[in-house]
Amino acid sequence: PIVLGIETSCDETGIGIVRGHTLLADTIASSMEEHARFGGVVPEVASRAHLDAMIPTVESALAKAGLRVTDIDAIAVTAGPGLAGALLVGVAAAKAYALGLGVPLYGVNHLAAHVAVDQLEHGPLPKPCLAMLVSGGHSSLLLVPDVAKEVISLGSTVDDAAGEAFDKVARVLGLPFPGGPHIDRAARDGSGTAIAFPRGKADDGTLDFSFSGLKTAVARYVEKNGGSLSLPDVAASFQEAVVDVLTRKALAACAKHDVHDLLIGGGVAANSRLRALAQERCDAAGVRLRVPRPGLCTDNGAMVAALGANLLEAGVAPSQLTIPADSSLPITTIHV
Ligand code: ATP
Ligand code: FE
Ligand code: MG
Repeated sequence: PIVLGIETSCDETGIGIVRGHTLLADTIASSMEEHARFGGVVPEVASRAHLDAMIPTVESALAKAGLRVTDIDAIAVTAGPGLAGALLVGVAAAKAYALGLGVPLYGVNHLAAHVAVDQLEHGPLPKPCLAMLVSGGHSSLLLVPDVAKEVISLGSTVDDAAGEAFDKVARVLGLPFPGGPHIDRAARDGSGTAIAFPRGKADDGTLDFSFSGLKTAVARYVEKNGGSLSLPDVAASFQEAVVDVLTRKALAACAKHDVHDLLIGGGVAANSRLRALAQERCDAAGVRLRVPRPGLCTDNGAMVAALGANLLEAGVAPSQLTIPADSSLPITTIHV
């Protein structure tokens, strides 16, 4: 079956089309440029941009896949979590397509979709697997017995998300928003061991994260060392602190739950040092690592279509056409 996925939880209008778990199209319109000058996503601006981008993005995805809209067998849409007004645009569009085409609708969880997307690149997910999702809005460790049926939260950040820490530290360093890629690039010329930044909650025995202390430590360091600091060293040392804690906790979760497959997703999974250190530590622990290519790690429609395909395959009943968008949809709710 051919599934069209719609993602509008934040600033990306993402439309993906899959046949089973084969990717046919993944088209994205981003309003990030409109938000950059505010240093963060402005919800009202994002909602309006989704409205403008929706139909052209669906049409370009269909064209890319060489399909007509009547070829679509099911619609999947992010029902939450995310920005309420932004989600609403996607959910309304999904209902209209499902009703107009007479095909089933699946309202899905954005975080579960970040897990499901890896199948488009690396094939079926091992059952169970461990997933670490690190993005601008989330940092979570999840035990995934079956992405269509059961996702269990093992831990999450108690304050800032990992991507949020990258973005806030980038701002302190005078780098553009979103800061993750800029820090990643700057860090290549620096040393990760130049400055000993704190590793929040690293050894507290939980599977939770904390990044706000680290962010404050970097801000204080910059304040104190002003003109004489090395930007590459600060970037590399900050980045090392983040990815050290992330990979340590992810492997602790694998060991605790006796899982041998680790999946990393979300925008921060694009980080080159996270990828390298995760690979190194997984190799040492005998854990297989799966990380989707960067374009599939950040928000996109293909991930929503991929999860829709899992739900269809599992014979899950479609959503009602009356489903709401839920800005705080819990990860335990895979579909609504
Ligand atoms: P959500 O959290 O709801 O999934 P989001 O838009 O914040 O939404 P993504 O689009 O998945 O999530 O990721 C964006 C985040 O990823 C930003 O915080 C950005 O700085 C970070 N990021 C992107 N590339 C890199 C990188 N190479 N290194 C570190 N962080 C990165
Ligand atoms: Fe996301
Ligand atoms: Mg985004």
